[in-house]
Amino acid sequence: MGNDVTFDEIQSKTRALMPDVVEKLKSLIRYPSVAFPGYPSEPVNAMADATAALLKEYGLQDICLIDIPGGYPAVYGEIPAPPGMPTVMMYAHYDVQPARREDGWETDPWTPVEKDGRIYGRGAADDKSGIVITAASLAIFEGKPPVGVKVLIEGEEETNSHLDAFVTAHPDLFKCDLFIIADMGNISVGIPALTTSLRGEVSCILEVQTLDHTVHSGTFGGAAPDALVSLIRMLATLHDANGNVAVQGLLSYSHKTMEYPEELYRESAGLLEGVDLIGTGPLSSRLWSKPSVTVIGIDAPSISASANILIPRASAKISMRISPDADPHRELQILMDHLRAVAPWNVHVEVREVSISSGFICLTDGSGFMAASQALETAFKKPVMEKGTGGSIPLLRVLHNAVPDAEFILWGAEDASSSRIHGTNENVDISEVERCIVAQSLFLHLLRNTR
Ligand SMILES: [Zn+2]
Repeated sequence: MGNDVTFDEIQSKTRALMPDVVEKLKSLIRYPSVAFPGYPSEPVNAMADATAALLKEYGLQDICLIDIPGGYPAVYGEIPAPPGMPTVMMYAHYDVQPARREDGWETDPWTPVEKDGRIYGRGAADDKSGIVITAASLAIFEGKPPVGVKVLIEGEEETNSHLDAFVTAHPDLFKCDLFIIADMGNISVGIPALTTSLRGEVSCILEVQTLDHTVHSGTFGGAAPDALVSLIRMLATLHDANGNVAVQGLLSYSHKTMEYPEELYRESAGLLEGVDLIGTGPLSSRLWSKPSVTVIGIDAPSISASANILIPRASAKISMRISPDADPHRELQILMDHLRAVAPWNVHVEVREVSISSGFICLTDGSGFMAASQALETAFKKPVMEKGTGGSIPLLRVLHNAVPDAEFILWGAEDASSSRIHGTNENVDISEVERCIVAQSLFLHLLRNTR
């Protein structure tokens, strides 16, 4: 397909390829490619091989597995740019979150099921859909895209990644004019949106101690504070009565995005009938711009192990999503200082840092961003909106530091309203995958005019 390609040609070629794309996606879902420590490595490595084989079959001849020290290999390939043309680097990841049938899956997570235009299975959306979108957009050009293409499909996005250090050590491999990150999605199927900001995430563990040993709650209760009640009082200071984060001094990002429809949010979150939303201000700001604090685990006796005692020691892990433009070290320090300051009754408190990752902001004034908007609008036949996301991809910051002038385009088929990424019954809409392939192919075509 030459430079005179039309939108109709891209659309009809994609339509013709879709049955095979669906089969390829189903075959990828069969690999339980969980890269978490403690999970078998064989399916993860097999998934890397299958990813490379698919890219090769779809036109990327120069493909290899890069050994990432300490981690799983990254699938890497390159098609050099025709003279004078820009180069894009397409990113997706082949590892997935764990999934167990007994967590509430209606069907086996590693056996793809097609139902009502969707494919169910772990990784169907996050991010095996990104792999087939990347590969298929090369197939549309029969392996001869109008611009230079590098492909990076990593295997440790969902777990402690070793890729960050590798990128920093080998920035030349990642040199490009623009990154396409196919690991996102629209709010709802068929309504196109480019993701332009991601919140960061920090976490800490708060440990409270009040007694040097367990004592009878009848004999001693009433005067000595127990650690769990103390901990609960401290955790209760994290929000005000409206559910706004009550930690003073945290940053909030002020960029305007589309609004998140409340009904859709309630439905996608599975919020139970009558339960209030927390926080104030536009829903989009609560989800994408402002910090949010969640207690994600508590160590204390379980009900089955409970006894009539004063609990001497209790701890909680607290995770905070931070504003996309905030310095994560500063925000975590503020949270940890807050926790120390609210300890009641001079109980002994220890706060330990667990994790720190920055948010990310995409520039929206580049020629690549404009071409991406145009491609998306044409493929979806609807105006494109800008959205944020509450989740974070720490690698983006690393790629940005390695290639500071490159633009970032974040999109994909992981629709927020029904894909249930990381959850039970994860799935992807087949027509959304098709539109994303059309958009990504058209984008490559339009990019040749940006030089
Ligand atoms: Zn992902």
